[in-house]
Formats: sequence, C-alpha cells, structure tokens
Amino acid sequence: MGQNTPPLLKLKIGYGCPACEKEFERGFQVKDHHRSVHGGTPGDDKIKQITATVEKQPLLEHIYDISTHAGKYASLASKNYNKGKKASARQNSIKKSALYDLKGDILSRLVDSALPDKAAIHKINGREYHYLEYDTWGFHCPTETWAGPSLSSDGQPKKIEDFEKSTEKKRTGNSLKSALTFFNDELGISANEFLEQKYVSYGTKSYFAGWKYLD
Ligand SMILES: [Zn+2]
Repeated sequence: MGQNTPPLLKLKIGYGCPACEKEFERGFQVKDHHRSVHGGTPGDDKIKQITATVEKQPLLEHIYDISTHAGKYASLASKNYNKGKKASARQNSIKKSALYDLKGDILSRLVDSALPDKAAIHKINGREYHYLEYDTWGFHCPTETWAGPSLSSDGQPKKIEDFEKSTEKKRTGNSLKSALTFFNDELGISANEFLEQKYVSYGTKSYFAGWKYLD
C-alpha cells in the first residue's frame, strides 16, 4: 500500500434477506419481509449487511455541503414567501427538509461506522443538537430526529447554551449537484427519497419538487 492511500470508511447502506436476493434499507424491513414471505424471523446475525466503501474526506466535505445548501433553501423559502410566491416557497422548504433529513441519515451511518473525534450536545435557539466533529468538520443534527447509535463523550455530553453557529461557517465552494451526485453514486442514497412531498402544485399544474438529475 502506498503512503498516499486516502482514509476509507465502510458505511452500511442496506440489509439483505438471508433466504433470497432481496435487499432493504433497514434491518427491520428484512424481518418483516422474511416473516411474510419465508416464515419465521431471522436473527440479526443472519441478516446480510450491504456496505459501501467511501473516501473519508469527500464524504465529510459533502455532508457539510448539504448543510450549507439546506441553509440557502431556508432563506430562499422565506424570501419567496414574503414576495407572495407561495409555490416556490413550498418547493424551497421541501428541498430544505429533504437535505436536512439526508444529512441526518448519512451522519447516522457515519457514526455507526466510525465514532466522531468529539461529540457534544449543543443548545441552539432552544433546540438540542448532537454536535459531531470529524477531523476539521463539525456537524449539528437535532437530537429528536437522531436515528444513529447513542453518543457520549467524556462519559457525559456537554450542554452548551446559545452556542454560536459561527464556528460552523466554512465554505467548500462545491455545488449542491456534486454533493448529491456523490451520495447517489457512492452510497446509492438519493436526496429525492427524503422529499416529504414529491410534487408541488401551481395553479392547475404540478411540478416535481426534487432534483431531476438524480433519477
Ligand atoms: Zn427473502
């Protein structure tokens, strides 16, 4: 192995049925499927794990990109709403939520694969967030929607009131498309899977709320 080999991470991206070739996103879905199709519940050790190996640095950078662009959609949504452009505001808001949910999903898989260098609980505007630090990257994820493994640091997570968001200001200059394409191609995870609503109606027409280049 050369000394320039970049650090890699193995992320769990799916679960396979032990009795057939079917694959699912979550372990419990394999159990449900197995019960109804093959009969009986397979043990966790029998369920096949499907993993994807990705380079650590672009993964961290692109999770960060998702955050940045979600923030942009959030401010676009309020601008459009104030201008009376309700359909555009709705689409902005759907995209914003989809990006935050995608970020939470990828972060939970990341933590499952490699624990963060630092973890804490931050309180921002009255809401609690997991703060996860990997290398030079810091991420916030609401504790109430956290689906990953339980986290603690130094025994107990620290609580920081009114945490200044400014420490998270960092610019990668990457386009949203490069980040979403990375997750789609490397992990098979499409941001479109996280849309709370696939179409937005405008007058008598309706249009796709997500990212067309991912499908
Ligand atoms: Zn099966």
